[in-house]
Amino acid sequence: MTDWKLPWNADCMCGRVRMRVTQSPLVAMACHCRGCQKLTGGAYSLSLMLPTAGFEIEGETEIGALHRPEQPYVFCAWCKNWLYTSGIAGGQFVNMRPTLLDDASWVVPFVESYTSEKLPGVVSGAKHAYAQFPPPEDYPKLIEAFAREGARPA
Ligand SMILES: [Zn+2]
Ligand SMILES: [Zn+2]
Repeated sequence: MTDWKLPWNADCMCGRVRMRVTQSPLVAMACHCRGCQKLTGGAYSLSLMLPTAGFEIEGETEIGALHRPEQPYVFCAWCKNWLYTSGIAGGQFVNMRPTLLDDASWVVPFVESYTSEKLPGVVSGAKHAYAQFPPPEDYPKLIEAFAREGARPA
């Protein structure tokens, strides 16, 4: 598919960290787990899984949240906005927060995880739901389906 209208620009709340996406996302996800609820202060987190090679970042960042060395949560050093999680699949991918995109109006999660911890009344719009994370063997078909059917910029 070539209709992603790349590149996309993004920034944090204060604008000190700028990001640029130059390659198509693999999947858009919502996570309802308790950790995401606490980290975002919202009902769930949104993630866009991107090839690390297609993700550029400029500005001062720092590691926060659980300080996991293998999959660090990366924040703006000044406004502390959660930007992305790196180290996905051994560093091949990053999970970026798509709400930071200059145009986030098209973003709809395709898969939702941890519906076992979902708050009552919350509807994410995802087509595929999992009680926890999808098992690794489901990712290839989810990624293939997202390439065909996933929401993209208008
Ligand atoms: Zn989560
Ligand atoms: Zn900032």
